[in-house]
Amino acid sequence: MSKVLVIGAGGVSSVCVHKMAMNSGIFSEIHLASRTKAKCDAIAASVKDRTGESVQTYEIDAEEVPALTRLIQQIGPKLVVNLALPYQDLPIMDACLAAGVSYMDTANYEPKDEAKFEYHWQWAYHDRFKEAGLMALLGSGFDPGVTSVFATWLKKHKLRTIRTLDILDCNGGDHGQHFATNFNPEINIREVTAPARHWLNGEWVETPALTIRQNFDFEAVGPKNMYLMYHEEIESLKTHLPEIERIRFWMTFGDAYITHLTVLQNVGMTGIEPVRFQGKDIIPLQFLAAVLPKPETLGSTTTGKTNIGDIATGQALDGSGEKTFYIYNICDHEDAFHETGNQAVSYTTGVPAMIGAAMLLTGAWTGAGVFNMEQFDPDPYMDMLNQHGLPWQVKELAGPLAF
Ligand code: NDP
Repeated sequence: MSKVLVIGAGGVSSVCVHKMAMNSGIFSEIHLASRTKAKCDAIAASVKDRTGESVQTYEIDAEEVPALTRLIQQIGPKLVVNLALPYQDLPIMDACLAAGVSYMDTANYEPKDEAKFEYHWQWAYHDRFKEAGLMALLGSGFDPGVTSVFATWLKKHKLRTIRTLDILDCNGGDHGQHFATNFNPEINIREVTAPARHWLNGEWVETPALTIRQNFDFEAVGPKNMYLMYHEEIESLKTHLPEIERIRFWMTFGDAYITHLTVLQNVGMTGIEPVRFQGKDIIPLQFLAAVLPKPETLGSTTTGKTNIGDIATGQALDGSGEKTFYIYNICDHEDAFHETGNQAVSYTTGVPAMIGAAMLLTGAWTGAGVFNMEQFDPDPYMDMLNQHGLPWQVKELAGPLAF
């Protein structure tokens, strides 16, 4: 029985708070704070309607550390779950340290003025969390999050060592819009337009964004083009599982998405440098995000499925030589919407956020300091995925990927 404070009131938060309310044995009191209180109230109303549970709501700018510290002290939660934007990670970690409360998030810190996704800013908090006897759990979404837990599960149950790891993120959903992103547009476009990087034999290999493409036949979705990208879990996995020779991350994009993005990039609309417009500085990407459809409005029209998973090759635990396993989850957009009022991209992030919070609050995962997902026993987390809407499957492939 534990009190939790969730910060941020977008699609991911909405799913997570609904799922927490459905597990009131673990989350006995849920508090929700964000920049716009009306969005917290809308989530609280839906939660009341669907589950009968109450959620207390507050308005807060999470970048105002003293005000946030006071709010945390006033509520007195056992854990703060950060489901706002990556820009707020460090201020929320500072407020948690000041208030003496553990911390969790789903995405690593990014400075606003540079599209750079690296863990060093948050890893630098390790000693302070350790000395305070508090835990900070980083990246409990699907990717990062479940994909890292999938890797440790394969390492515990199937492979003695992992030689190569490919993370495949496929969204086979159709939202019926010309161009829209399935989570926060600003964060999504910064991620997709960043140069691709993968890990190979102890070094980063960088290639221009969206230039390396493969076609892959995803179960329940069909063949899709997927593109090599940088993703933050590569950095933490190569650090915590240093035996892995090659780690790559792939994400599917339809041709229409790529065409729109290319045009927007070519005309400068994805830039993050300020531009003077009618006497005011505006950031083109923030303006673009403001005119694109809001991800939380896509749920009612989105059909199709997501399929996200890991393909790992390495020496089998039973000594039978090199083996390749594929472990993945398939999630249906319409089912996700029916259950929580949000599409599957928010669902596949919000459910793991609830599970990560449950790992801390139930004591299934313990420790003082800053941790990534692959540093813990995967089994209790994998059990909860099966029980709470994200069942997974594992199968042996005939051999490693041909590309
Ligand atoms: P949204 O943009 O829908 O929601 C973000 C919320 O944060 C909004 O309610 C916003 O407030 C609030 N917010 C922004 N700035 C502040 C601030 N200064 N103080 C308080 N609240 C603030 O994003 P999503 O729900 O799509 O994504 C949430 C997080 O999940 C992001 O960090 C994203 O990167 C991460 N994510 C992780 C994934 C994974 O698999 N690991 C996958 C998808 C997303 P307002 O409503 O006023 O704008």
